[in-house]
Amino acid sequence: MLRKGAPPAVGQAQGRPRVGFVSLGCPKNLVDSEVMMGLLDRAGAEITPHAETADILVVNTCSFIDKAKQESVDAILEMARLKTAGSARKLIVAGCLVERYRDEIQKNIPEVDAVVGTGELEKILAAAGLEGQRAAPDPESPFRILNGNGHADANGHADVRLGKEALAGTHKAAPNPVASRHEGDRREAQGRFSRKSWDGAGAQLPQYLYDHTTPRMRATKGASAYIKIAEGCDHPCSFCVIPNLRGKFRSRRFESVVTEAERLVAEGVREITLIGQDTTCYGEDLGLKDGLALLLDRLAAVEGLTWLRFLYAYPNRITGRLLETIARHENICKYLDVPLQHASGPVLKAMKRGGGAEIFLKTLRKVREAVPGIALRTSFIVGFPGETDADFEALCDFVAEARFDWMGVFAYSDEEGSKAFDVGAKVPKRVIEHRRRALMRLQKGISRQNMRARIGQTFDVLVEGESEETPLLWQGRTQHHAPEIDGSVLLNDFGPFEALTPGRFYRCEVTEAHDYDLVARVVEEVSEARPWSVESGEVAGAGVLV
Ligand code: SF4
Repeated sequence: MLRKGAPPAVGQAQGRPRVGFVSLGCPKNLVDSEVMMGLLDRAGAEITPHAETADILVVNTCSFIDKAKQESVDAILEMARLKTAGSARKLIVAGCLVERYRDEIQKNIPEVDAVVGTGELEKILAAAGLEGQRAAPDPESPFRILNGNGHADANGHADVRLGKEALAGTHKAAPNPVASRHEGDRREAQGRFSRKSWDGAGAQLPQYLYDHTTPRMRATKGASAYIKIAEGCDHPCSFCVIPNLRGKFRSRRFESVVTEAERLVAEGVREITLIGQDTTCYGEDLGLKDGLALLLDRLAAVEGLTWLRFLYAYPNRITGRLLETIARHENICKYLDVPLQHASGPVLKAMKRGGGAEIFLKTLRKVREAVPGIALRTSFIVGFPGETDADFEALCDFVAEARFDWMGVFAYSDEEGSKAFDVGAKVPKRVIEHRRRALMRLQKGISRQNMRARIGQTFDVLVEGESEETPLLWQGRTQHHAPEIDGSVLLNDFGPFEALTPGRFYRCEVTEAHDYDLVARVVEEVSEARPWSVESGEVAGAGVLV
């Protein structure tokens, strides 16, 4: 990704155009950036971290909420200024903002030369002027690089073999078939994915989904990588426009995910995080029952994979089979991110999600019983239209009782095209902000207690490198910290070591606790993370049990 300052010599490297990327938003968007960088790299471009010397600048945008949109626009404007002042000859805007404001972007920011939506990642080649040097296929793959919709095999035939055969591995891994869930088809008929109310957006919903044959240039740190196992979402959440931006839910082929995981581990990756808007729906469109549990089961068997985790779980799709699978495999992180969005019944009903505090507490009990010591993360939206003081109090009571390890709170953002946009009773922004801060304060106290309870305990820590805060410390994560999302473990004492190696696992003892971060000293190196075990007594009392 792009950095400014201390650039190398200006000019194209041996005729190869230099491309600089700004990737904004969530890990799903990051994977899209990695795919576009991979396509460009294979087509002959050089990916550079130096914005000043790039010939082509790409901003991969996020459009989830107002704040994300503003950040995207700011990044585009900054790159437009660089283009005007520097050596860049092209500015390309990609991602969710394009799906939302395709025409408007080029009309209002004339420095933008081309736009690439989430459903047309391969068009990055044409946008960069590299279409003639189309990416060569992987010589080991029997399939060519995906075409526009990403669904054809080497002969241009869609492979639609599903279910048992896919699981048995009796076929060669093939690109994704065109498939959808009954629920998605029904919601499409009801207008869930419609963009009619959006000026400047294309009518075509994205269908693209990369697979194991697509080149991808990893941008994550050291030993950690994401795999996107599904794209789109069929849920009807009334505040959310992600389905309008990303299309209907669709899963990647089972063996395609396995092949990619095996390749990443062979390249040195030790931690894989599976991502999708709702990973717990994985495989339903492919005819798989309990698809995520089956996939985890298979991936856990990949030799050399030390940590495996997934983001995000839909609350009513956490099955006994899924929990049993997490508990059974030593290398599946004892970690669950389940965005609940609220806890008051009436608000959840208006959000078109259902559930409520009691049901959620029951689910959390079930999760903690099935996987003792599991770390739980959630996120909430405060200030949804019609949210009363009583609703907010119910949410606070729930948070106090649920005692999550990690929690995010979003201020409600009124998104045109969402069902909630048309609701009249909006909560004033001042009240929303007040509630957001109050809920975060409540969680801060809970987190502080959780962190303190860990002092004196030892954990396996995946070392990431120098701390982002200060070069005097290093940082890493336990299996209870997802990459880039949760707190971190700061290492101020390397124990018997002169230096640590990023990407390796070390046994560390917690010596101090902050509100969200731990401070630890290194005890010894472990060739791979030790099995998590309640009997060991080292993790069981980690303060995550209630
Ligand atoms: S589950 Fe709901 S909030 Fe999450 S992406 Fe789908 S529609 Fe949006």
